[in-house]
Order: sequence, then C-alpha cells, then structure tokens
Amino acid sequence: MLTDLLGTTIPRLAAPFFRDITWRGPSHSADGSPCLHLTFDDGPHPESTPLLLDYLNEAKAPATFFFLGSQAERFPELVRAAVEAGHRVGSHGWTHRSAWRTPTTETARDFERAEALLEDLTGQPVQNVRPPYGRFTPALRRWCREGGRRLVLWDLMPGDFLTSLPSREKLIDRIAGRIVSKIKPGSIVVLHESARSRKVVLPALDRALPLLRAKGWTADTL
Ligand SMILES: [Zn+2]
Repeated sequence: MLTDLLGTTIPRLAAPFFRDITWRGPSHSADGSPCLHLTFDDGPHPESTPLLLDYLNEAKAPATFFFLGSQAERFPELVRAAVEAGHRVGSHGWTHRSAWRTPTTETARDFERAEALLEDLTGQPVQNVRPPYGRFTPALRRWCREGGRRLVLWDLMPGDFLTSLPSREKLIDRIAGRIVSKIKPGSIVVLHESARSRKVVLPALDRALPLLRAKGWTADTL
C-alpha cells in the first residue's frame, strides 16, 4: 500500500542519507527492554488530547506531542496538561504549512512563532521539530541544525488518516496490525490528533500496546 511505502519503507531507506534527521529514537530503555516512541501530530485538540492523556497515563506510555502553535494558542491548558503528565512537547509549526511551498524565511518564522508560545506554556525549551507532512528542505535542516533543534520524522506511519477503508473497525485493525508487525527497536510511530482520529487511534493503541507489552516492549518520549 502507498501509505506503507511513503510512511515506512521510504523513511527506512532514506535514513542513512539524512543523518541529521531523527528517524528513530533510542532503541532500548535503561533496563534493556526494546523501546518504541509514540508521537502525535496536529494537536492539541479538545476532543482528542484529554482522552489520549488519560489513556497514556493508564498505559504508562510517555509520548511526544508535536503541537501546532495555532491550536496551542486556543487550548493552552492542554499543552500544560501534557507536560504535567510527563510527556514531551515538540513543535509542528504554527499553521501547518508545507515547507516545500513556503518561502524559507516564512517557514522559519512560522516555526519560531510556535516555538515561542510552546516554550512559554511549558517553561521548557522546545528541541524537537516536526515539519507538517514530513516535508523538509535543505534550509529547514540548516535552520534546525544552527538552532540546536532536532528535526524529527518517523519510521512507522500506520495511516490513521486513511479514508479508503470500508469501516472504522478495519482501520483500527490496520493501525494496530501495522504497529505490531512493523515495529523495530527505537521506532518512532506517527499518529494524529483530531475528532476523527481519536475514534481509531485510541482503540488501535489499546489493541497494539498490550501485545507489545507482553513481548517486553516499553514506550518512552523522544
Ligand atoms: Zn500534521
């Protein structure tokens, strides 16, 4: 399927050529168990973030949230709640613009605006940056490098945004199945926050994580 090709195969092939980009996180936790890194883009979202925080807390799965500045401005309490619950906050820019279609200076300004707000809300430096659609340019890579930021993509995209499946149940199956079957130690899994995605992401995680736990996997932030 095209989503597997773009979201998992290509990142794994591209990683050796773009070593300044983070495609995977630490492969094992301190006790030696294999580790995965859940990431959530496009929030905070009032219909998704609170439920996710509850679920991740119960599952003891610290994650990384790539928040949009424009959403963080509307729902600042959700940004604070994520940090207080032990998750890590990264930046997904302010307006969800593609770096391929935006002049370099505007892209930097968009990210800097989001970063300033997120740092203000969390009281922590925002080190992790994920460009919308995973689209990066040489200028964006340089901007990250020179500012001591980490450009974070992923190596496992289960496709929670797909609309082509015949039912919600099939999509949940697909997401959980992809996570369990394609995971590698250190994998960064990209999922999304929206009113629609929470209806598939939460049940899929609830199916996949216990299976991985039973095999000794742990989850951690980036
Ligand atoms: Zn996004």
